Order: sequence, then C-alpha cells, then structure tokens
Amino acid sequence: MKPPIRYTILPARPEGHLYRVTCTVEEPDPSGQQFALPAWVPGSYMIRDFARHVVSIGAQSRNRVVALEKLDKHTWRAQAGTGPLTVTCEVYAWDLSVRGSHLDTGHGFFNGACVFLRVLGQEGAPCELEILRPRGARYRSWRVATSMRRKGAGPFGFGGYVASDYDELIDHPVEMGEFTLASFRASGVPHDIVITGRHRADLATLRRDLKRLCEKHIRFFGKPAPMKRFVFLVTAVGEGYGGLEHRASTALLCSRDDLPREGETEVTERYRTFLGLVSHEYFHAWNVKRIKPAAFAPYDLDRENYTALLWAFEGITSYYDDLALIRCGLIGKKEYLEVLARNITAYLRTPGRAKQNLAESSFDAWIKYYRQDENSPNAIVSYYAKGSLVALCLDLLIRDKTRGRKSLDDVMRALWRRHGLTGVGVEEDGIERLAEQATGLKLKRYFDDWLRSTRELPLKALLGTHGVEMRLRLAESAQDKGGRPARSKNAAGLAMLGIRARAQDDGTAVTHVLEGGGAQEAGIAAGDLIVAVDGLRPGQAGLEAALAKRRPGERVGIHAFRRDELMSFEARLRPADADTCVLSESAGARARLLQRWLRPDSPRTWSRRKIRG
Ligand SMILES: [Zn+2]
Repeated sequence: MKPPIRYTILPARPEGHLYRVTCTVEEPDPSGQQFALPAWVPGSYMIRDFARHVVSIGAQSRNRVVALEKLDKHTWRAQAGTGPLTVTCEVYAWDLSVRGSHLDTGHGFFNGACVFLRVLGQEGAPCELEILRPRGARYRSWRVATSMRRKGAGPFGFGGYVASDYDELIDHPVEMGEFTLASFRASGVPHDIVITGRHRADLATLRRDLKRLCEKHIRFFGKPAPMKRFVFLVTAVGEGYGGLEHRASTALLCSRDDLPREGETEVTERYRTFLGLVSHEYFHAWNVKRIKPAAFAPYDLDRENYTALLWAFEGITSYYDDLALIRCGLIGKKEYLEVLARNITAYLRTPGRAKQNLAESSFDAWIKYYRQDENSPNAIVSYYAKGSLVALCLDLLIRDKTRGRKSLDDVMRALWRRHGLTGVGVEEDGIERLAEQATGLKLKRYFDDWLRSTRELPLKALLGTHGVEMRLRLAESAQDKGGRPARSKNAAGLAMLGIRARAQDDGTAVTHVLEGGGAQEAGIAAGDLIVAVDGLRPGQAGLEAALAKRRPGERVGIHAFRRDELMSFEARLRPADADTCVLSESAGARARLLQRWLRPDSPRTWSRRKIRG
C-alpha cells in the first residue's frame, strides 16, 4: 500500500480570507507528479473550477524548489524527481455557501474539494490531515467541527484527522470558530448540531426534534445506521437557504429565524422549512451518498458527470423529506397537505414543464437547472419539484395497484439492499427495473410518461385514490404560494400580464416574461423597468395592485425603460391560469389508506394523534 498523503491546512490570514494548504507525497511519480483541484463538488452539479481561487502555488523537495508546470485550468505537474514532494498553495476563501469555502476573523469553513489537491494516480492512498489553529490571541477559543475521523486531535480540536482516500477526505467539510454545540443520540449513533452565526435557537427543541426525525430515517432503511457519527454543520444568517449532503455530515445554510425559539410550542412555518432541509440532507446519507448512480461511482472530478437519474436522487429525496416530518409526528396532516399543495403549485407555475422532460432535466442539470436565467421558467422543469411529484405518483400508484401491500418504501429498501449496502452503482435503468421487481407491477408505460415525456402527471386521480381532493384556483397575489383556500375572487394582476417581477424604488423590474402571456405578446422583456400603467405611476401598492383592479381581456398601456430607453407597450390581460393548488381530505371511506400512506407505523387514529410530544 502507498504511504499516506499528508495535508495541512492553516487559516493563515483570516482577515485576507486566505488558507495555506500543503500536500506532501512520499512517493511521487518520478516522471513528474501531477496534482489537480476538482472542477465541482459532489452534490452540486455545476462546474465551479475551484482552482480559480488558488492565489499562489509552489513545490519543494528536501528544501529545494521544484518547478511546477500548469497543464490545464486545474492541473499542475511537478518537475521529475523523487520524493518527498510538498506542494504549498494559498487559497482564497470568501464564498459563504455550503459548496464553497469561507474564512474571516469570525470563523472558517471549507469543503475539501475547494482546498485539497488531488494527487493523480494516488487517489486511493490514505490521507492524513493536520488542521492548524490560526495564530493570534483572538483565535484561542476556536474549535473544530467535522465528521472526519480524529487521529491525534481531541474532540472538536485542532490537530490530526484521517481519511481512507481522497474521495473521503473531501466528503467531510470542516467548520472552525466559536460555534454552538448540541448533541444527541439517534438509534445509538452520536449526532452533533453545530451552529455558526448569531442565533437564539432553542437547543432542547432542536435536539428532541432532530432525534425523532433521524430515528425515523434510520428505521425506514433499517438499523443499524450506515454512519458511526453524524454532524449537522449549520450556518445561520439573515436570509439564506441551502444544504449539501455528505456521508456522515451535512452543511446547512439557513435564516436564523428558521431556527426554533424558546417557548415556541408549535412547529412554525419557518421552522418547518428548516426541518424539511434537515430531513432532505439526512435522507441523502442513504439516497445518493450510498445508493448512487453508476455515473458517480467513482466521481470524475475533472468534468460533468452525466446521469438522467437526478430525478430519483433529488426528487425521491424531496418527496420523503416532507413525508418523514408527518410520519414522525413533527407536523400534522393539514400541514403536510399544505406543503404538498405548495410543491404542486410551484410545478404548475413552470411553463417549461411542457418543453423539458424529467430525464432531460437531470441530464442537463449542469448547464440548465444550476445555471438559470430569465428564460428558465419557460424552458426547464426542476428535477426536485417534478421529481418529488413523480415519486408521489409512483408511491400512490403502487399502493393503489397492490391494494396497499407494496409502496415506494419497498422500492427504496430494495435499492438500499442491492446498491447501498454493496456500493454497486445504479445503472441508468436500474431504478425502473428494481421498482418492477420490488412491486411485481408493470411500470414501464408510467416511467415513459412521467420521465421521458412532458405529459401532465395524473396528480388529481392518484391523490383521489387515497382520499385527498385536489382543487386548483387562481393565484391571489405574487405571494400566494397555494396550499390554502382563496380569500378573494380576484386574480393576481402580474399573472394576468404574464410576468414575474420585483418591486424597486424607481419602478417594477421584470424578472421573467412567461411564455404565451400578454406581456410577451406586447414585446415586454426581462430586465425592463415598468414605470407607468396607462400613463400613471403606480402608487405605493405597486404595479400588482394597479393591475388587480383590471379584468381579463382589458388592454393596458405600459411604459417601461429598457436600458436607458423609454418604451411604450400595449398589453392585453389574459385570464390567469388556475395554477394554485389546494388539497383537502375528502373521504371517510379512504381514511385507512390515507393513514397507511402518511403514518404507516402509527397505531393511533388521527383524532387521537398528538402532533408533538
Ligand atoms: Zn438534495
């Protein structure tokens, strides 16, 4: 076996956002060792070219400088020679996202993909990492949080860590600073919640609720849990949302108001959002970190890794993230149906669902979903949104056709046994084949329709099989996300005009012009700044209120600036689409089916259910 690759990382100049990272190879390729930084970070399907943040790089061997030649945007080759060889680089870190790296005088966070050079040809060698404390009195109380195995470092300490190969090294993000720590055990496995950023979260509530949620997921796939320890690395900011999954941890970015406050007895809408994010990333520890597409086994970190299966890894995960909240009793049936109705609403408001099918959406994630622009709603469909609804349809279809004997749960457990426990990647047709095997049903025509065509999903009919009535109504305003009955009969004005927009001090900026709407027909474009309707500047309530008084079929004069040129348009308001979904329980007769779907292992009936305890 090759000797370990040794890495060190020092937050060398927190005020300049610079890490100093070294990589030492005992036995470099004698013809000239090559090193590379990844072009992307697994879980976030976009080329990010982390090498662009390398500010300086140099190599040494036995105190002598070794020349480095740059071969392409992210690969370097050292001059031929024998080891040991050490490459030192300074990496700029000012991206406060779950996919990047960040460093200031308050804290440090990094994904290994941003900072650790890959030693080409020795990716399988074990890695040793020394995380060094920044110099200076102000950093004396900093601690380190990561799921990486310790070797020398104390608990939450600076010092030595190890990974069995490069893939593992970059799958344990690291947080350092003065964070809040809360710990609990789920099915016997230690879990830590690490919160960075100002917050007033009630830790007891977080511990209790996350324990319940994690145990639900562990029981779903079957004990024992696949990880020996799990760490939630939470960064709380004013406004933010995001997560990235890893094998034994997850990095989460949330609004501090999404965290529960002391004395709150209910799961608020904002806290529900946070719990949904936690649930999503935790489910990924099985679905995508261990059950993974063959295209990712192993990851090719130099370029795009194409698969049409993201609908399953992101969509099915998105389906189970909310479903687990009701299944473990953190939310009730009414709340769950509201969340589901909002997901359906978001999907129905995407005209692009008629253009791009789900398999294409997955395959082109690298250039479309992750690189959205003003035309995206017209051109693409989200593999999260539609993927989760396909998972819903699949689950209800299987339940209906097998009279409740089988469900998508069985398919997921079959995937876990065949691919998760074995580490064998899922082939492009693997999920469809396994779904048929696990349920005994012929499903090809459904997969053809739902994955490879743009035909509408039979949501209403399938929800109906489980006693859920689906109704569609007009949106009442741009803020109306659906899930609740209408309060008025007025349609939203922006919808009738066919735009999405953002109010500014000097007017209303058009962000999107929807396909086939009145605005598009009139020639209004994304980026236009609307300043007047029928010659009048909209009042304080804005453009939306000005249009809300109008009726479909009316013509309105619109003045807008395109760049610095004033333009005038005449647009005909169209009837808004009934694209806002409301779900309600319809039926006593199907109550048992509904119960088995939403609370499969709850012996109690709905009326005696306690939502939280
Ligand atoms: Zn995800």
